Amino acid sequence: MGYVKFLGTAGARFVVSRQLRYSAGTWIELSGTQLLLDPGPGTLLRCRKVRPALDPGKLAGVVLSHKHLDHSTDVNIMVEAMAESGRKKRGVLLAPGDALEGDDPVVLKYVRPFLEQIERLEEGKVYRVDEVEIRPVRHVHGVETYGLILDSSEGRVGFVVDTKFTPELPERYAGCDLLVLNVVRREWSPDVDHLSLPEAIEIVQNVRPKLAVLTHFGMTMLRGKPWELAADISDKIGIEVLAASDGLTVEAERWQD
Ligand SMILES: [Zn+2]
Repeated sequence: MGYVKFLGTAGARFVVSRQLRYSAGTWIELSGTQLLLDPGPGTLLRCRKVRPALDPGKLAGVVLSHKHLDHSTDVNIMVEAMAESGRKKRGVLLAPGDALEGDDPVVLKYVRPFLEQIERLEEGKVYRVDEVEIRPVRHVHGVETYGLILDSSEGRVGFVVDTKFTPELPERYAGCDLLVLNVVRREWSPDVDHLSLPEAIEIVQNVRPKLAVLTHFGMTMLRGKPWELAADISDKIGIEVLAASDGLTVEAERWQD
């Protein structure tokens, strides 16, 4: 049975730098294929410390949605760990072009030979990692950023990662059974490159997944007690909404019929 495990749930610089929540990534197993999304600071440590521990040597791939530090700090060490300390050439890395090339790439050249494959994410392309098909969705977030739609025999799982709200987002994530949304801020304000809670609710109401999970919280969300906010939203819109906590595992049966 597949699952999504939130190793960390911190968003925004303040929550990350104070480690008010862990800033590790999200571990995903679908149809037996294990993937890691956005290995922020502390990801390797969290993999080894959660119970049951997660073995990076079992990963088929690492996916970077964008190169901001809270999503990418541990990418190099996770690639090395996936390749069993560089002893084996294994695994796939999917990342935006500006994480790989240009002035300020975050993937070190010296770890790249450990990988079997490096794929540059592009909107409109479909990537396959073992049993999972991956479709990137271009977001608006300063640096090159892609949300992800993962299709497998366990259904469709969408990750609405960091982004400014745009009206076409709901239709881009149509058909998701599980929808995970990075919700940094509780209130809407102009010119912010992150989703606020009202915008996240709008997306969830339009996509109508079987389950929505909120994560990547900034201070205003944490102060609002995300579990209470999520419960209120569930009541209002009639769709199950959960607030992720560090270490939360969501089993596939929760988003399947
Ligand atoms: Zn970001």
